[in-house]
Amino acid sequence: MAEFTGKVALVTGASRGLGEGVAKALAAAGAAVVLVARDAAAVGQVAAEITAAGGKALAIGADVSDYATTEKLVAETRARFGGLDILVNNAGVIEPIAEVATSDPAAWARNININLVGPYNAVRAALPGMLAQGGGTIVNVSSGAAYRPLEGWSAYCSGKAGLWMFSRAIDLENRAQGIRVFGFSPGTIDTEMQVKIRASGMNVISKIPRGDLLPVSHAVRGLVYLCGPAADDIIGTDASMRDDAFRARLGL
Ligand code: NAP
Repeated sequence: MAEFTGKVALVTGASRGLGEGVAKALAAAGAAVVLVARDAAAVGQVAAEITAAGGKALAIGADVSDYATTEKLVAETRARFGGLDILVNNAGVIEPIAEVATSDPAAWARNININLVGPYNAVRAALPGMLAQGGGTIVNVSSGAAYRPLEGWSAYCSGKAGLWMFSRAIDLENRAQGIRVFGFSPGTIDTEMQVKIRASGMNVISKIPRGDLLPVSHAVRGLVYLCGPAADDIIGTDASMRDDAFRARLGL
């Protein structure tokens, strides 16, 4: 039996990049997967590929920055697949890339509403059901930017730093009731987000040549590892693909 047979996962930001890889990997390992992104056609295409490969998938076009929407996502997940065991808060945006003095206030708030309030919304909607069923796993996709300011990324760094504190708060309140929460830093990986970062020319990350970026598949392995019992001894941590000990667990 595959590792996640009988489990139900909800993956936000699953239309491309890390979220697409994680949704496909969880489905290949037996989970029924609900895929979310604003572009319904793009996320529908990924779900169709999973279904064609023999997996179980449901695509929903939705914006995680709206609480009522995330409540509906969780309700639809439970209605279709009978539960929710794994929540992957992966949806995120880099913009606005601008220095604080010239940044657009509305764009700054929008970043926080997607990268920090979005995960809160999904957790708030999912947690009561997870507690009622005796447990569940939550992975909040973090970043080295949670710990380090980078020029032009004040919104992104602030949101990711807040998300790590939010992970710790969930862990503090819910670990004893079976909730396994992790932060996960994927490293600098070759996705569309990095295309936008390179185009900006802002800060050292934008100067990294595409050829030096890590493959998405490595980070997918790391995130999926956290969803299984092998990671029970590191519950409550911000696991990072830059950490030698964590990569060693993955055989990387
Ligand atoms: P990506 O290729 O740009 O994908 C982002 C995904 O999030 C897309 O599916 C996008 O689809 C979705 N999304 C964005 N806003 C959304 C919203 N409001 N509601 C629902 N879905 C939304 O980025 P990625 O590199 O795979 O990033 C995935 C995660 O890893 C992010 O949290 C990012 O901060 C983190 N991360 C990435 C790197 C890196 O080097 N790439 C490094 C550290 C951390 P739609 O636009 O259709 O909504």
